[in-house]
Amino acid sequence: MFDRATAPRPTDPPAPILYQGEVVQRKAQDVQPADVAPGVVPLRLVGRKPKCFFGLLKSFLGTSLMGFAAEPEQVHLLLKSNPAFARVCGFSHKEKERSHYHHPQVPSLRKLEQFDQIMTDAGIWGRIKLAEVKTNLASGVIRPEQEWVGDTTHYHAYSGFETVCYEDEKGNEKRKSQSKLTKRCRCEDWENCPHEWQLRDVGAGTIVKSGKKMIWGHKASVIGLPQQGIAIDALAVADAATHDGQTFFPHVQKVLGEHPELAPSIRRVLYDSACDDAALKQRFEDELGIELKASFNPRRSKAISEPLPRGIEKITPYGVPICLAGHEMDYQGIRYANQTFIYRAPQAEDGLSVCMGCRQRAQCCNRSTSAGRTITVSFNTLKHIDPSDPPMAKRFKAIMRRRPSVERMIKRLKCDLGDDRLSKRGNASFQAYLDKTMISYHLLLRHLH
Ligand SMILES: [Zn+2]
Repeated sequence: MFDRATAPRPTDPPAPILYQGEVVQRKAQDVQPADVAPGVVPLRLVGRKPKCFFGLLKSFLGTSLMGFAAEPEQVHLLLKSNPAFARVCGFSHKEKERSHYHHPQVPSLRKLEQFDQIMTDAGIWGRIKLAEVKTNLASGVIRPEQEWVGDTTHYHAYSGFETVCYEDEKGNEKRKSQSKLTKRCRCEDWENCPHEWQLRDVGAGTIVKSGKKMIWGHKASVIGLPQQGIAIDALAVADAATHDGQTFFPHVQKVLGEHPELAPSIRRVLYDSACDDAALKQRFEDELGIELKASFNPRRSKAISEPLPRGIEKITPYGVPICLAGHEMDYQGIRYANQTFIYRAPQAEDGLSVCMGCRQRAQCCNRSTSAGRTITVSFNTLKHIDPSDPPMAKRFKAIMRRRPSVERMIKRLKCDLGDDRLSKRGNASFQAYLDKTMISYHLLLRHLH
């Protein structure tokens, strides 16, 4: 627990926020790339003739393209039950008279599991994903944009958790949820054997959603282009319990490193209120030269009730005054000389101010003209709002209107091309799952272009 990115005491060196794949180098088997092609498998002198790599690859991606989770069980089920699908992938069903092994036959579940494992361990899913995105960028299927948008999403973990009690530095009892423990060894007496305990599901954690709803799952960070609505990267977060505000900067940094051709066009990144933090905005500006624009986080839930201008009932934490008649005042701008925000009463559908014929006139704008009530609110009253970037302004709202496009990208990845319930444990499998989804997503983009 104390090695996790969200450990109660920071580790030295600090644990990475994003999942870092450890690529397992495999011994080269003396196969030349030129000797392999769809349907052509390398020559092997001993043992059974191998399965076709491209056939296996197609079956995984085809499964995702049909909207199912690209995991061995599902792939096997489809290959077995759908002869047309098996044929498209380059496999044939067992002929009745042939009882022995024949290499174009539909692979066994075990073979599909082995294939997925090798692709995951060697980081090949991730490399294909990168190549697909790069191809789409180079061929103009995706155009660079001035803005990027980011968010995180959760997938339900395939594991249980237990709550661990510990004492913090002050000796107070604290609780933290973590994955159950296991050992890799085959000793009979785990309680007393010398091998180390390990987390059964590395990376899983408690994700707190709005309304204090808690989910045991894995967290992915997604970055995309808002105008076109295209996700360009999805990355597993090392510890799902990590706060969203911490994941965005390292992820933007990583994507810039992987796609340097996008760097000249990018000016601004958008995120939800989790990144509304002055220090983080400064870091984006200083280290990457990018403006971070985040939804406004008022950091207070109560409305402002005093001091208020005449006729105003309250000002919401988002800086919107509401008058006695229940109208929201329209933000007009700033009067710098007086250090005030200016608001005006909205107009009704007939184009006249709502103040005309208002019953509260006597306590509010008795003397005002047909333009309706205008009020000013001092900067001091709204101390939590930055006057250089007020969230009430039309410009701020116009920019933030593009942020929710990331939710649609997430829906495509999570619901249309897969399943949000994982069937494997650990971050490596989770990242592989995201990569497989991203590969089919970008294949589909290219096909539909
Ligand atoms: Zn042991």
